[in-house]
Amino acid sequence: MGSTFARDLYENSTTLGDTLRFVHDIFPTNEDFGLNEESHGIIGNHMYDPVFNATFGMGTKETRWWDGGEPIWVTARKHNLTSATYFWPGSETEIRGYRPNIWLPYNESHPFRTRIDRVIDWFVNENIDIATLYFHEPDHTGHVFGPDSQEILAKVREMDGILGYLMKKFEDHNLWDTVNMIVTSDHGMTSVDFQNKAIVISELVSMDTIKFTVDSGPIMQIFPVGRASDLVHELNSRNQPMTVYLKEDIPDFWHYKNNRRVMPVFAVADEGWSIVTQNSSDPEKGNHGYDNRLMSMKPIFYAAGPNFKKNFKSDTFRNVDIYPLICELLGISPSPNNGSLARVEDMLEQCETNMTNPAGSNVTKKNNVSDGADYVTWDRFLMLMIILISAMVV
Ligand SMILES: [Zn+2]
Repeated sequence: MGSTFARDLYENSTTLGDTLRFVHDIFPTNEDFGLNEESHGIIGNHMYDPVFNATFGMGTKETRWWDGGEPIWVTARKHNLTSATYFWPGSETEIRGYRPNIWLPYNESHPFRTRIDRVIDWFVNENIDIATLYFHEPDHTGHVFGPDSQEILAKVREMDGILGYLMKKFEDHNLWDTVNMIVTSDHGMTSVDFQNKAIVISELVSMDTIKFTVDSGPIMQIFPVGRASDLVHELNSRNQPMTVYLKEDIPDFWHYKNNRRVMPVFAVADEGWSIVTQNSSDPEKGNHGYDNRLMSMKPIFYAAGPNFKKNFKSDTFRNVDIYPLICELLGISPSPNNGSLARVEDMLEQCETNMTNPAGSNVTKKNNVSDGADYVTWDRFLMLMIILISAMVV
């Protein structure tokens, strides 16, 4: 068993973060914005906005839905830096007057190694300061086969090899001296079972009491016909494996309720259960979007590069803290955000140290990083998002 990306990063670099925002698949992530969901307004993959009187789906690109927050690539551009995205939620939309310098329409068919080659080229030849790189695996396989399947294990091994390929490219182009790498995710995953663990709303209350619902699965937003508190009481009285909240009673620690796109009644399923309006034959075996205090929902966070300490394990932090962390690395002032640099700055080397010991040479002290995966060290590795940031100027 040789050394691969996962093990190298784990042993030679970095930090382990662990909090995540809540709620389904929110394809859009807080890493971009440094904002809680209630602040940036992307509160689900499916949303209804009462002011727009319109619904949002994962393909919605209209600026008005996205303008509540400021992605890191916009902040970078506002400071005259260059940014690029190889797929990232919101990157196909003009936000606050900006797009990344380079962006691509989302297309899952792009081979993973091709994506890496292109991103490497941005740093080698195009003077890009920050780039994002998104892979829809192993998330996709996790949804189809579940997080405990043989298929997901095989996919994780494959993605480990993809990361090994990225590491090798970093070495080949000497990028470890000049570029920091963050490997993260925006959620974990747990097993679901629509046949045996479904909470069917239409079997609990008359659908005449519900005007419409938005989203389904781990959560459901419900717009009632009558008094919201009556519906909440009725649903909770059925003693189902879920908790139904009046919007104003949604716990503060989810940083979720203060947004007009959250409906008056909000239901959250217990882990592994799915809330649906009628019986469903959905074959999905894995999902995320449950209470973010569950270990199964925790994302990963690894980082390496000239500005990161080696062999450092961070205290728990929130993923909104990644935004001010990246701003610090870029040497720019962050726009208003919900993150805290104080919670994450311990993982950074002091600038002075960098001057006497430039480059993350220790990070690359590894054996035979190869394109092929042969060892997996992560038991939860169900989403893969990579951010590359030019090293801090010293
Ligand atoms: Zn997913």
